[in-house]
Amino acid sequence: MNDRTALVTGANKGIGRHIAQQLVAAGLTVYVGARDAERGRRAAEEIGGTARPLTLDVTDPDSIARAAAQVDRLDALVNNAGISPDLDPPTTASVEDFRRTYETNVFGVVEVTNAFLPALRRSPQPRIVNISSGTGSLGLSADPGSPFAVSQGSGAAYRSSKTALNALTLFYAQTLQDAGVKVNAMAPGRRDTDLNAAAAGGGDPAEAAEGAVRLALLPDDGPTGTFVSWDGTPVPW
Ligand code: NDP
Repeated sequence: MNDRTALVTGANKGIGRHIAQQLVAAGLTVYVGARDAERGRRAAEEIGGTARPLTLDVTDPDSIARAAAQVDRLDALVNNAGISPDLDPPTTASVEDFRRTYETNVFGVVEVTNAFLPALRRSPQPRIVNISSGTGSLGLSADPGSPFAVSQGSGAAYRSSKTALNALTLFYAQTLQDAGVKVNAMAPGRRDTDLNAAAAGGGDPAEAAEGAVRLALLPDDGPTGTFVSWDGTPVPW
């Protein structure tokens, strides 16, 4: 199949941009999702080839509906757009901090996924990849020896939003299994991007993107309902 299409949300920079770039290199037509039309246009132009800008703010139902109306068939949806606006523990984070983070990282994924499901159902090999985080793993968060232990930082709103995203990954995988839609979550590992500006020593975002591309192009006998690291290693829920 050489006329495959993919949508990557939040693809104007960071990990998402690398995912879009690598999917173009793999021969797909790629919608470069960006909430800002000009940033999306520029990113798609710089990626080149089959990259197409698609204005898409994952927190705006009208924007999502307009974007979905432009896509007839979709083979891979990569829910990558994410924010981490504060690093507060739950005792000092405001409900508004939680709400803002969940709007993008959780509700945005639900609304985008549901809006693009009709297009995904037109694909013979539909795939959904949710870009999660090791910090969303309850198993790692509770393990004091893990680099993702709660004591190692990052905010309660962000962490719990990714835990919710993991739960949704399982729900979607199970609900869509009969329709042949494979749904998996991936932890990219700590990467040098704007989101992670406060943390030093992140790795190359292009490397993390490789894992998302692999999940976006899973063969028919590939897994669904899993949570894996960028290199394919299982991550505890
Ligand atoms: P960046 O901040 O570099 O990129 C985030 C992207 O999401 C940007 O394109 C941003 O657009 C977009 N975005 C934010 N809000 C919205 C919205 N409402 N609608 C559409 N797009 C939006 O971060 P990363 O590349 O690091 O993050 C990508 C994903 O990887 C996120 O889900 C993040 O949680 C996850 N992740 C990242 C890690 C890391 O170490 N970097 C570690 C673990 C997980 P704009 O340019 O307009 O702000």
